[in-house]
Amino acid sequence: MLILTYHYYPRYFWVHNEEVLRVRSVYLQERLVRLNNIHKGDPQICGLPQCRKLWSPDEEEQRYCWECSKWYHMSCLERQERVSQANYMDTIRARVENSDIPDTILTVAFQPTARGGPCHFVTGNIRVIKQARSLLSKDTRQVISQSPWMAAHLIEQTHSHVQDNDWIAYLESELSIKEDITEEQLVVDGQSCYPCPVCKSVFLI
Ligand SMILES: [Zn+2]
Ligand SMILES: [Zn+2]
Repeated sequence: MLILTYHYYPRYFWVHNEEVLRVRSVYLQERLVRLNNIHKGDPQICGLPQCRKLWSPDEEEQRYCWECSKWYHMSCLERQERVSQANYMDTIRARVENSDIPDTILTVAFQPTARGGPCHFVTGNIRVIKQARSLLSKDTRQVISQSPWMAAHLIEQTHSHVQDNDWIAYLESELSIKEDITEEQLVVDGQSCYPCPVCKSVFLI
C-alpha cells in the first residue's frame, strides 16, 4: 500500500529525572510497520478478524482485551450490548475471587483499558492497569505491604495497617503520577464496557 500523506502522532512520555511529561512526534514509519503487519495477516490494528480498518488515535478509541491480548476499535464493539462502568464494577466486586481485594485496586484494574480518542492519550492507560492488575495477587500485595516504601508511607500517614487508599498512593508513586503535574489519571470514570467480540470472556472491555 502506498501512503501519500505524511503523518505524525503525538507520544507522551514521563521524564523521571526532570519530573515532566513531554510530547514527541512519532513519524509515519510506525504506521508503515502496522500496514505491513496487516499484509502479513497479523491483526495488529484490530483483533476482530474481519476488520481491516486502521486505527487513527486522534479520531477513535481502542479497547484492550486482557484475555486475548488484542486491541479493538470502539466501532467494532459498539454493536454489542453495553454495560455502564459502574454496573460492571458491581459484578467485579461480587466475584468470590475478588472478595479480599481492596476496592481501590479493583477500580483501577477493571476499568476499560483504552487508548486514543477524546478520553485517552495515544499511549492509553495500559501501563496504569498493568500495574494495578499485579496487585490482584495476594502474594504481591503481601510483599509490597512489608516493603520499605510502604513502611515509610504508613509512618507519614500515621496509621499502622495498609488501608485501601494506601494502594492508590503506592500506584501513584510507582507510576510517577502526580496530581496537577501529569495529565494521566489512575481512573477514568463514566465509560461503557462491552463484551470482547472474539473471546466472549466474562471480563468486559
Ligand atoms: Zn476493528
Ligand atoms: Zn478477548
